[in-house]
Amino acid sequence: KLLNTILELKGNIRVFCRVRPLLPDDGAGAENPYICYPTSTESLGRGIDVIQNGQKHQFTFDKVFTHEYSQEDVFVEISQLVQSALDGYKVCIFAYGQTGSGKTYTMMGSSETPEQKGLIPRSLEQIFKSSQLLSSQGWNYKMQASMLEIYNETIRDLLSTNRVGNLENGAAAKQYTIKHDANGNTHVSDLTVVDVCSIKEVSYLLHQAAQSRSVGKTQMNEQSSRSHCVFTLRISGVNESTEQQVHGVLNLIDLAGSERLSKSGSTGDRLRETQAINKSLSSLSDVIFALAKKEDHVPFRNSKLTYLLQPCLGGDSKTLMFVNISPDPSSVGESLCSLRLAARVN
Ligand code: ADP
Ligand code: MG
Repeated sequence: KLLNTILELKGNIRVFCRVRPLLPDDGAGAENPYICYPTSTESLGRGIDVIQNGQKHQFTFDKVFTHEYSQEDVFVEISQLVQSALDGYKVCIFAYGQTGSGKTYTMMGSSETPEQKGLIPRSLEQIFKSSQLLSSQGWNYKMQASMLEIYNETIRDLLSTNRVGNLENGAAAKQYTIKHDANGNTHVSDLTVVDVCSIKEVSYLLHQAAQSRSVGKTQMNEQSSRSHCVFTLRISGVNESTEQQVHGVLNLIDLAGSERLSKSGSTGDRLRETQAINKSLSSLSDVIFALAKKEDHVPFRNSKLTYLLQPCLGGDSKTLMFVNISPDPSSVGESLCSLRLAARVN
């Protein structure tokens, strides 16, 4: 009861923090972790403390996953939320954090072993499985997938078959204008939308999209993602016997790295890129903050990302933000920034 009241007050916005394990490449002094977890009962499993220059900074979230939590453990905590898309809810799940903090691992995971699969493949497996089970109760579902990235405030279609590498093939550059209709549906002109009936079909799409994603080089991480990647599954269900209809949307978003300028040594194009990323990430936090505080004006139009997701944020939609944290001591400054931002929207 109390929990429901809290969720209501927060407008269905939840924040989970996830700390990845130390990796062999993490810097010297990695044996000297700057993160600790409070053991007091009231913040057990919800608190994270960060020690910087001998000073302790404390944060509390809806849930904190230490490095010991597996992909399965994390999925268990979000499976209800994913399931609600089949009930007709609009759901957004974001991964926020600096490059190398585990956003892509959390969302997509690694294809090395089935245990390492991330939230996107696990969510899709669950949705297809559940939709099959629900067919015995007369439910017929139709699913449509699309996947785009927002790079420098420009939309790119990750499922377009006309793409060669990162370049769009074809004479006229596509506009990809975003429109919302009266029913709260979003249309992006020219965007590829694919009917999907099985996990196999979606897996193929995810693979195709991963290959199209643009990656840039920074001094921090050669594979750092400089764009937001938005996977959208539209779910329409009709019940044969009751004629009940549901329209749910599941958006799974791997955000661009949140690192600040100085650290990635940006100049020229890279500098403009970083500024665009910072602008859209701060627009996102402004929107979530305004929604959490139930403010009258929510600044959806300040970035492509928030405008695109407008119908799926707020109202009775459900939002979950992962704040991903690296335990590498050289990341303490970035981690504090991420945690402060997440604490603001929490
Ligand atoms: P980001 O997308 O935020 O830049 P990645 O997801 O690519 O970060 O993670 C950086 C590295 O850390 C990758 O090699 C990834 O496999 C690894 N990693 C991240 N999170 C975990 C985790 N929970 N368990 C094991 N390895 C992880
Ligand atoms: Mg990534």
